[in-house]
Amino acid sequence: MLKVNNNFLKLAGSYLFTEIAHRVADYKAANPQAPVIKMGIGDVTLPLPKASILAMQKAISEMAHKDSFRGYGPEQGYDFLRNAIAEDYKMNGVQVEADEIFISDGAKSDTGNIGDILSKDCKVALTDPVYPVYVDTNVMAGRAGELQANGMWSNIVYMPCTKDNGFVPSLPKEQVDVIYLCFPNNPTGTTLTKSQLQVFVDYALKNNALILFDAAYECFITEKDVPHSIFELPGARQCAIEFRSYSKMAGFTGTRCGYTVIPKDVVAEEDGQKVSLNKLWLRRQCTKFNGTPYIVQRGAAALYTSEGRQQVRQMADYYLENARIIREALIKAGYEVFGGVNGPYVWAATPNGQSSWDFFDYLLKEKNIVTTPGVGFGPSGEGYIRLSALGSRENTIEAMSRF
Ligand SMILES: *Cc1c(COP(=O)(O)O)cnc(C)c1O
Repeated sequence: MLKVNNNFLKLAGSYLFTEIAHRVADYKAANPQAPVIKMGIGDVTLPLPKASILAMQKAISEMAHKDSFRGYGPEQGYDFLRNAIAEDYKMNGVQVEADEIFISDGAKSDTGNIGDILSKDCKVALTDPVYPVYVDTNVMAGRAGELQANGMWSNIVYMPCTKDNGFVPSLPKEQVDVIYLCFPNNPTGTTLTKSQLQVFVDYALKNNALILFDAAYECFITEKDVPHSIFELPGARQCAIEFRSYSKMAGFTGTRCGYTVIPKDVVAEEDGQKVSLNKLWLRRQCTKFNGTPYIVQRGAAALYTSEGRQQVRQMADYYLENARIIREALIKAGYEVFGGVNGPYVWAATPNGQSSWDFFDYLLKEKNIVTTPGVGFGPSGEGYIRLSALGSRENTIEAMSRF
């Protein structure tokens, strides 16, 4: 008899963004003239950097000729891109070798797939609120246990991040094996200083735990004491994997490219033998993944040229200016806001103890602004909403003028 992976049946039926889309569609159907501005989903709006476009056009021409055509590439990515990334780390004083870098089709796939090489018995800790991919992929793998009435999974350890702790998670109270951290954070837009992140590295070293560090928003860091890579911290090469993405950094959300860094020093112990996670991931990728398109990798490599770097900087500055506009408008209107300084999201507390969904409905109906209810990212997101600064300047200014 056919059986399915019944862990999938435990997942919540209605995905957060589906519910938002429904509410927006209902409102628009009843109010077809309403000038609704979407500040909900975290997709980018600026076109690809010119340097990437030129490099991809050149790569397409290469594909048109027998002598320069490329078929299957290396599963772990072309050397030209891996070397450019390793060089970029080096320029920032971080030691990462090219063969510790795995090019992929994005950080969602990698953060979702990394569990393939980890035991089903690993105890997982997450910050709360959190990027839903970390939770759902652990549910699929059977690591999460059962969903409880309080919105938490019985086998996952939650590390709340709220205004009460300044969005700095405390170490898990029970021993865990895997810790997901995303800084600068989606959804809160907040981040950790070096010494705050070091606490987690020290914990991982002491407890033989693994940190899965999602640095998808690294390019938005503006403050000095904020680590751009977890590998800036002593000891991290022994206990951390870092995920990066060109999606928010260079508008690659639809173009698809990212990478994962697994230092050769990260090892697990199995029957008294040391097992390299770098080797396991290589084995996994070579079996289940056939590489990111050559054309796309050329587009990504162009981001490391001086033109590319300049264009990436301009793009990040554009979104950060949106974030500043959002922050200042909301503060002026009397709201309590967080984030938006080192990341493209502003996290606002709902007024008068309203629920996330009630405040979402208020903003939709009274201001015609679509946000994301914080509770959709986890129980500790209740009482907040997320506004994305990844929209156009025009829409951002127009939306904020409504406050
Ligand atoms: C957007 C985002 C990513 C990037 O995903 P891609 O698959 O590379 O587009 C990764 N992690 C977080 C937390 C994100 O918000």
